[in-house]
Amino acid sequence: MSVEISEILQRAADGGRISPEEALLLYTEAPFHALGEAADTVRRRRFPEGIVTYLIDRNINYTNVCVTACKFCAFYRAPKHAEGWTHDTAEILRRCEEAVQLGATQVMLQGGHHPDFGVEYYEELFGAVSSNFPQLVIHSIGPSEVLHMAKVSGVSLDEAIRRINAAGLASIAGAGAEMLPDRPRKAIAPLKESGARWLEVMGIAHRQGIESTATMMMGTGETNAERIEHMTMIRDLQDETGGFRSFIPWTYQPENNHLKGRTQATTLEYLRLIAVARLFFDNINHLQSSWLTTGKDAGQVSLHMGVDDLGSIMLEENVISSAGAKHRSNLHDLVWMIRSADRIPAQRDTLYRHLNVHWTPADDPTDERVTSHFSSITNVGRQLPVLS
Ligand code: SF4
Repeated sequence: MSVEISEILQRAADGGRISPEEALLLYTEAPFHALGEAADTVRRRRFPEGIVTYLIDRNINYTNVCVTACKFCAFYRAPKHAEGWTHDTAEILRRCEEAVQLGATQVMLQGGHHPDFGVEYYEELFGAVSSNFPQLVIHSIGPSEVLHMAKVSGVSLDEAIRRINAAGLASIAGAGAEMLPDRPRKAIAPLKESGARWLEVMGIAHRQGIESTATMMMGTGETNAERIEHMTMIRDLQDETGGFRSFIPWTYQPENNHLKGRTQATTLEYLRLIAVARLFFDNINHLQSSWLTTGKDAGQVSLHMGVDDLGSIMLEENVISSAGAKHRSNLHDLVWMIRSADRIPAQRDTLYRHLNVHWTPADDPTDERVTSHFSSITNVGRQLPVLS
């Protein structure tokens, strides 16, 4: 290992800031184990008890109708397409009820950019969910949905965000970030708003006191430098607002879309990115890895490369699953993944507060009904196992 890389790793492990150029050097040149060790050192300092968190939530899709036609997306259908659908509020509430019965603390309401859905639609949707299920935190939609609804309703972003927050939206999902730099973003989502606009929405929300997460989809042909540029854009905004709770990178899934499998991120690239993210984001507390797209083995290794959260069991997920993500989990598996990686599992809420720390195996939850990935796309109206 060069003296330069060793010095950068040491500074980052000690909590010092590294530049984008230094992050790129670590990403491309640092020895794998040294990179992981430095990232894990930072994780240990932030979370000395060795706790790794997980969440129980349900992703509920209200419509797959979308005018934006992202090339990587296998979920959407164009308006008037025979396979387009929209669920009414009663169906959304029924799914919320099932989620509550399975111990969910959060719902992620996600959908396409429906040409008719303005702010009023989301006010009604979030209002119905929050008044019927006040125990569920609505961590939902993303900046591109906010931009779309504001345009449909002809209101400012500031007004759109205030109104949906008043209706019940508590936290904005980091969805739709994909790649924020212009070149790779235009290549995979030419009709989507720019990365700068994505950040603008997040900035407005943060300044209104609404927190969010930040994501990154890697593996669609972007360069290593563009991956670091994406993270730099997020870090710069975080310096101003402090509103991002976590960073969640995941890998592009190549099935059933227009982009297909021309490029994909390898597991090694993913793990290196995870470690660099822990070292680079000295201003974002939590780092989540995606077992959904990279699998449970990579998820366990990531726990030794800086990750402190494995995200959700996801009682339902259709968007990434439509593009080929095949990994499934359940409460027992997720807790086992954490414990057998020599960490202490804990169920958390949206704000990363610990709801239940499983200090010993005797404390592990045993509810076998809590499993992931019941697809509702081909089973519209069917119920989760608990209620069938
Ligand atoms: S990713 Fe979102 S905005 Fe893009 S086509 Fe799919 S549903 Fe529409």
